[in-house]
Amino acid sequence: PSALREVLLEVPNVRWEDIGGLEEVKQELREAVEWPLKYPKAFQRLGITPPKGILLYGPPGTGKTLLAKAVANESEANFIGIRGPEVLSKWVGESEKRIREIFRKARQAAPTVIFIDEIDAIAPARGVHEGAHYMETLLNQLLTEMDGIEENSGVVVIAATNRPDILDPALLRPGRFDRLILVPAPDEKARLEIFKVHTRRVPLADDVDLEELAKKTEGYSGADIEAVVREAALIALRGAVSKTPRELVEEQAEEFLEKLRVSRKDFE
Ligand code: ATP
Repeated sequence: PSALREVLLEVPNVRWEDIGGLEEVKQELREAVEWPLKYPKAFQRLGITPPKGILLYGPPGTGKTLLAKAVANESEANFIGIRGPEVLSKWVGESEKRIREIFRKARQAAPTVIFIDEIDAIAPARGVHEGAHYMETLLNQLLTEMDGIEENSGVVVIAATNRPDILDPALLRPGRFDRLILVPAPDEKARLEIFKVHTRRVPLADDVDLEELAKKTEGYSGADIEAVVREAALIALRGAVSKTPRELVEEQAEEFLEKLRVSRKDFE
């Protein structure tokens, strides 16, 4: 078994308009990633050094992965997505090889956005974990690769974490992940936007009031809202397919969905 699975280049299909709320974060990513990737010469001419590394931090399910994919897509860049825990390998030396391979591929395919989700898994502050020696080599490999990214080479690294507090400070030094962007839980207005995004292609009953739903879903993340809509559509589908009363389902639905109801006639 080898951790050296092939590094996959992706062209994500996420657009800015697929992300509800987060307007300021999107603008910051446009300026820090999209513009430098699209107009490198202008940046050179003006002597502006764009960041090589950006750290998105905030609670789970708030759109960090979506943002990284959208900025790659909107910048017409390739995308390489990895998860911290997945890079960890039992086989000494394999993880470092994988990191090297990822950056090699990224340079080759530039412009490329490398996205490292759950970076805290590979870069916890030294001493946080037992057996940290092995992690330290891995972290050092990552830092070496980051330091080796040349200005305007078209490679940008975006990392995400729910735990910025446990990251090794070496990671956050200038020239590494020196741009920190908070991706907050959605407020009511953002939740409405997220409901709109996820119901775009879903036929809604006339009495569905998304504004009311946004109000009632305090504390829900974007991922939770997506789940609510998916679940609602599924319940409508089940009802349309079986035509028998599904009280249990209805009851759960009531609880889970409050008033979101997908119009059944569209399935019949
Ligand atoms: P984690 O910290 O758990 O990795 P994350 O912040 O990376 O989460 P995503 O993977 O981007 O979250 O979001 C998960 C799913 O939730 C997305 O595929 C999307 O459907 C939905 N979602 C989250 N935030 C938003 C948003 N702002 N607008 C639209 N959909 C969203």
